Amino acid sequence: MSSKRIILANPRGFCAGVDRAIAIVDKALDKYGAPIYVRHEVVHNKYVVDGLKDRGAIFIEDIEEVPENSILIYSAHGVPLSVRLQATAKNLQMIFDATCPLVNKVHVELKTLHKQGYAIVMIGHKNHPEVEGTMGQVDGNIYLIETESDIASLPLRRDIEKIAVVTQTTLSVDETKSIIDQLQATFCNLRLPKNEDICYATQNRQDAVKKMATVCDLLIVIGSKNSSNSNRLKELAENLGIRSYLIDFAHEIDEKWLKGANTVGVSAGASAPEVLVEGVIAKLKTYDFN
Ligand code: SF4
Repeated sequence: MSSKRIILANPRGFCAGVDRAIAIVDKALDKYGAPIYVRHEVVHNKYVVDGLKDRGAIFIEDIEEVPENSILIYSAHGVPLSVRLQATAKNLQMIFDATCPLVNKVHVELKTLHKQGYAIVMIGHKNHPEVEGTMGQVDGNIYLIETESDIASLPLRRDIEKIAVVTQTTLSVDETKSIIDQLQATFCNLRLPKNEDICYATQNRQDAVKKMATVCDLLIVIGSKNSSNSNRLKELAENLGIRSYLIDFAHEIDEKWLKGANTVGVSAGASAPEVLVEGVIAKLKTYDFN
């Protein structure tokens, strides 16, 4: 028997928020039939989105694209208030909200802080729908930063009394900690989130990759290119010194990646279903990994 091994990350794949969001679209399709309109990809996974498209889901970005009397669902990433207002002003049959409760928690916290007069710094990725949704909960006095170097250009006094930080839920735990440390060093009155904004699913999947990185020659992450938490798993492995590849499907595995490797780690982002992991394992078995 070959000594080449596969190590599976645990936990990996679907989180509760993704499961819930997909179930909302599935149930709407079962109950009301096609078409069901979904604002943005319900979760960032090509396999999932293509499967729902086949069943009659129509993914749109602009609410104007939704015909009157239709059924509309908001994606797991959440939506800005302006989108909710635009949708409720339309004559739609029904609106369902698949926003992850952990994203919603950040929205609630942010709105409270804003009402209390805090300037809010959000750590996140520009143009990511979750960031647009979260920043769009309030009207102004919120500033996005992506890296430590963005802190210097914040238009805020260093001794500002009311300043708070919130984060996207799917960031790198380590990088975010270092940005928050730098923010604290810059703004003496910085108020930290009561509970961590990075969700448990993102944290657990990163912890699992950290543990396995010591024994793997490379890590294959199953997830789509636009999946934030999948990208963070790949980056984490690379930062720990192992090669990593982000793929949607098993057929993307290149035999060259496996040359000289004895142990291949496999993880999956929070929006990638287990069936794709099974496909990758089956593919690796054809290269003598067990
Ligand atoms: S990754 Fe986290 S925030 Fe996103 S859907 Fe899953 S549990 Fe919710």
